[in-house]
Amino acid sequence: MIDFHSHLDLYSDPHAVAEECNARGIYVLSVTTTPSAWIQTSALAPQGSRVRTALGLHPQLAHQRKSELNLFDSHLPGAMYVGEIGLDGAPDFKPYWNDQMMVFDHVLRACSQAGGRIMTIHSRRASSAVLDRLEAFPNAGTPILHWFSGSKRDLDKAIALGCWFSVGPAMLAAEKSRTLVRHMPRDRILTETDGPFAQIEGRSAMPWDAQKATIELATLWEMSEFDIEQLLNNNLRRLVGNIYSGGRLGDADYRQLSEVIGKRTESR
Ligand SMILES: [Zn+2]
Repeated sequence: MIDFHSHLDLYSDPHAVAEECNARGIYVLSVTTTPSAWIQTSALAPQGSRVRTALGLHPQLAHQRKSELNLFDSHLPGAMYVGEIGLDGAPDFKPYWNDQMMVFDHVLRACSQAGGRIMTIHSRRASSAVLDRLEAFPNAGTPILHWFSGSKRDLDKAIALGCWFSVGPAMLAAEKSRTLVRHMPRDRILTETDGPFAQIEGRSAMPWDAQKATIELATLWEMSEFDIEQLLNNNLRRLVGNIYSGGRLGDADYRQLSEVIGKRTESR
């Protein structure tokens, strides 16, 4: 099971959630909203687990935390994953648009200079602008648009730009999103939850609720749950493999991941 966008550090008992993810063998991308949260959030990942941590600066916090960009730069060499980053065009955050743009551009430029990163990206009411910035920084790495809710036209552009997508149970509950997911390339999709922010049945989503997204995808694409899981595991392996293909980072992480996924697939 894969939850490629989870805010582990924001649950009321983050250690318990991280341990449960480890016990269930879930591959989790634990995203941060500020560079100052990076060290503590990284420490949540139990030894030998499949929990990985992303270095981020959330667009909704850009105006308050732009002073942490230096800290972002200093942590970047040790971060293979970057997020949550992006832009938010909702009325509450539009007043800080210039700060958001400055922060997002800074992060994309830094990722380009560092040789590229796997990036999980927020684009609420801002998908066109996000895609414009990604187009301006083609070497920033592999963008994964989390909970994409743009137009069909933006989706086509995102696909052309090489974007990936992570989809969760809350997103898949809406018919408009389901229509978009039908058009997403199956070899560039991962599951996520966006917990604890995202709600399922009136409660915060937990990383293991990613299974609900797997089930929804099976229905949507008329495939078995087993085949969807294989597809998602293969996608993840390819995604993580891509970033290493240029020999830009050490390959221990990828080797471990391949072994984990390989074993799991063989044992089915
Ligand atoms: Zn999020």
